[in-house]
Amino acid sequence: MSTVVKIMRKVAIIGGGAAGLFCSIYLKELLKDQVQVVLLEKQSRVGKKILVTGNGKCNLSNYSMDVSRYNTPRVAYAIRSFTPQVCVDTFYRWGLLTRQDQEGRVYPFSEKATSVVDLFVKKIEELGIQVILFEASHIKKCDHFLVYSKTYQLENVDYVVLATGGMAGVMSTNGYQLAKDLAHTCTPLSPTLVAIKTSESLRHLSGIRMKTALRVVRPSGEIWCESGEILFKDEGLSGILALDASRYLEDGDILSLDLASDLPSNTLETFLENDETGERLQGMLPKMLAQDIRRRMKSDPHHDLLWHLHHFILHPIGTYGHQYAQLTKGGIPMEEVNPYTFESLKTDHLYVVGEILDVDGACGGYNLHFAWASAYQAACDIAKKIKGE
Ligand SMILES: Cc1cc2nc3c(=O)[nH]c(=O)nc-3n(C[C@H](O)[C@H](O)[C@H](O)COP(=O)(O)OP(=O)(O)OC[C@H]3O[C@@H](n4cnc5c(N)ncnc54)[C@H](O)[C@@H]3O)c2cc1C
Repeated sequence: MSTVVKIMRKVAIIGGGAAGLFCSIYLKELLKDQVQVVLLEKQSRVGKKILVTGNGKCNLSNYSMDVSRYNTPRVAYAIRSFTPQVCVDTFYRWGLLTRQDQEGRVYPFSEKATSVVDLFVKKIEELGIQVILFEASHIKKCDHFLVYSKTYQLENVDYVVLATGGMAGVMSTNGYQLAKDLAHTCTPLSPTLVAIKTSESLRHLSGIRMKTALRVVRPSGEIWCESGEILFKDEGLSGILALDASRYLEDGDILSLDLASDLPSNTLETFLENDETGERLQGMLPKMLAQDIRRRMKSDPHHDLLWHLHHFILHPIGTYGHQYAQLTKGGIPMEEVNPYTFESLKTDHLYVVGEILDVDGACGGYNLHFAWASAYQAACDIAKKIKGE
């Protein structure tokens, strides 16, 4: 009688952020003793970025999930098979209770991002996932992968998952170079979900928060409009609405704020009736904003008060940069990975997941959701391959 001896496979996951942590835990759960999972993280601990998400509350998914929330339809399979409910159920099974707000945004019940990171750390220990706190500096592929760090060399690696994230908040990463070394390309990188700088100094308005409608207008016409909250800053605009607008901005676009978007037009017209100079504005807007509009009326008398209220024009000249961004626009093109499995179409047994990909989603939990969703597909595919060997 012959016995089949199954060889334990080795998987290296590069990057202990949202995608890397999720992938390593899911994979180890699926394969148990059939796999050795090694997680490399260059920072002093795993999950550091998760701690600052959602203002420390970690907006981890959104029930209003839709492919239109992303820059590419190639995420469709990943987000339709790993739905917000699957996401919430997985975290629940692992020991995290969640809650959702009126907009469908999902948070840990504790509203503390630390609950999410603590959960990951606990699962990693429980499952015996090996964590190495070193930066992967080079990856070579022969029969197997060789993963190098300054003082460490990981040999005979069967599968590699690249989950090195983007530039947001950290300014630099060698993850894109690791992907290029393994035959991938990279689209231009820029900060997104980021505060916008304008040519107009807004110091006098700094700190004012308002509910408005915001339009991005190109010479060819309006390309984006949404309502929500903006925050004036010294040199430009922030707030969820401005961050979302930053995903669409191109050189030459203008921003148009409608400062009375949630007022019925007859209420507004009656309130401002016979007010030629805009004196009554002070009764409906913060004082400095009312004064700004009156100044605009003087320098552009072709338009009346109502027009200036509905078209508070600002000229973007850039952003606050990667340091203050929530996300990176650009990355490894989705066309270079299988959208069902996230396996590289350039290098066998390499998987690319999370923010390193050229995928950006709106504010509201969509980017963490994509990190989990892509990591989930990769873990399922690696497990399927190893089980089928
Ligand atoms: C301030 C802020 C708030 C945010 N809030 C939200 C939110 O509320 N909801 C939401 O959906 N999204 C939010 N995001 C976006 C979200 O954090 C990212 O989409 C998500 O973290 C991407 O996951 P990732 O695993 O791909 O990358 P990351 O989480 O960035 O993880 C990558 C990890 O890889 C490590 N690494 C990089 N290179 C190497 C290497 N060579 N070797 C070893 N390790 C390496 C990094 O140190 C890092 O830990 C926010 C982002 C920021 C900056």
